[in-house]
Amino acid sequence: MFTTDSHRTVVLMFSILSSMTVLADPYPVNEFIDITHYRFELTLSDETDEISGTATVQAKFLRDGIRQLRLDLVNRTVERNGRGMVVHSAAHNNVALTFDHSADILLIDLPSPSGLNDVRDVTIQYSGIPVTGLLIKDNKHGERTFFSDNWPDKARNWLPTVDHISDKATSEFLVTAPSHYQIVSNGLLQEESNIGHGLRMTHWRQSVPIAPWLYVLAAADFAVQYVDEFDHKSIQTWVYHQDRDAGFYDFAVPTRQALEFFSNYVGPFAYEKLANIQANSVGGGMEAASAILYGDESVTGQRTPRWRSVIVHELAHQWFGNSVTEASWDDVWLSEGFATYFTQLYFEYADGHDAFVERMSAARDRIFEFHAENPRYRIVHDNLDDMSKVTTAQTYNKGAWILHMIRNEIGDESWWAGIRNYYRKYMNSHATTDDFRDEMETACRCDLGQFFDQWLYQGGNVVLDGEWHYDELTNTVEISMSQLQKDGFSFSVDVDVGVYSSDDPVPSVHRLELTGKSGRLSIPLADKPKKVVVDPRTVLLAQWSLMEKAK
Ligand SMILES: [Zn+2]
Repeated sequence: MFTTDSHRTVVLMFSILSSMTVLADPYPVNEFIDITHYRFELTLSDETDEISGTATVQAKFLRDGIRQLRLDLVNRTVERNGRGMVVHSAAHNNVALTFDHSADILLIDLPSPSGLNDVRDVTIQYSGIPVTGLLIKDNKHGERTFFSDNWPDKARNWLPTVDHISDKATSEFLVTAPSHYQIVSNGLLQEESNIGHGLRMTHWRQSVPIAPWLYVLAAADFAVQYVDEFDHKSIQTWVYHQDRDAGFYDFAVPTRQALEFFSNYVGPFAYEKLANIQANSVGGGMEAASAILYGDESVTGQRTPRWRSVIVHELAHQWFGNSVTEASWDDVWLSEGFATYFTQLYFEYADGHDAFVERMSAARDRIFEFHAENPRYRIVHDNLDDMSKVTTAQTYNKGAWILHMIRNEIGDESWWAGIRNYYRKYMNSHATTDDFRDEMETACRCDLGQFFDQWLYQGGNVVLDGEWHYDELTNTVEISMSQLQKDGFSFSVDVDVGVYSSDDPVPSVHRLELTGKSGRLSIPLADKPKKVVVDPRTVLLAQWSLMEKAK
């Protein structure tokens, strides 16, 4: 269906004409230009918040006849109090190019129309005070710091990029700053040189392609520990020098164990190192590839459960979100739902099944709290055009619960086989919800169409009302159950019922299939059960009541 939004109409028409993957959110993706590498040379200062930069953007043209390169870069304006970026020049092979920089879009005229599969470099010189995206301010100790915060589309405030999740590129940062700063970024350290005048140039290079929100820059007076290694890759802790002892203690675990778990169960770690970094640009954590940012308050010296959980969540993102990246913002649950569930799976592995059940139950409660306020909320967005709404608590918790229900539906063996195949196929690339469904259906040799439709593409919530009684004439437990939700959404669900016979501490589990509004189940049992419960294994996302029927 076409909308009245002309911008989106153009995108849709373009996608249809190209007969390539239709990307759903309204960013004007040009599927014929693939950015392959960014080189950012940046100068930071103690005297001013203005940064100056030289960005070299390498683009591959997948069609001939392309005349312009379009990048996102936020303009300097009066409304922004003089903040934003000014472009001084654009060039190709040292030959100046004409460009237009307005409405936060930088259009650069190529020296000649592209040929098919041409790879060209364009170099842009620019400067300005970032509105956001790179936060320049004092940390909690009153020391000046620079920290990036690109999520979800703020890289354009300081880096000229195709600032959309669908374009992955390798990158390097060459940062010149006063020499008291230590600089950390994605990938591997190439060079750290004092260059005179109290300045140092630090060069980081990442040879694995990632999306723009995952580019990271951190500059502070850090304490740095090379704490461990995993698979010959360095694990590092970067904390404020005042927080050295507590921070080194906090971040020494559980990174290695979590990397091992995700590598063994999902597939190889994609990046070249893993740095945990204390930062004041985020409140919780930000999963920047190979260099994760954690809030100012992340260092407690206590290894608190909360921050342990955040660390594992951001590590899980290195696989899901960073390496396998959702093709458009509509599928953002492939990042946040997965990171949330794989955090729970890590805790099942590390702390045992009871800890896992406790966490899943708590997540289920939060889903119903959110649902009470937002009954129509669906997990896969429908052409999301407001980036402030890209995620909600539901993306995390319900996304995780949906994965949990798939695992229960198809069994552990098929689940892990499907996950491994999905990761292997889309590692360092992009996937859609349909791609994920295909892999799981291949693994289970089953049809998950209805499951995906009802849990991901519609809102609503299952509300069950049931009763049971013991029939002493037939020696059966009789259970009846109905779906009560009045919001118009219907679900097909299998409900586990646990029956505790008088002498057994664990219930026998029986399945009641609820494809219509109501269903029944008869269970032969010699004596009246002690109690009958719904969902004894914690695998159903629903609210319910089950009462013993009064005689
Ligand atoms: Zn996350």
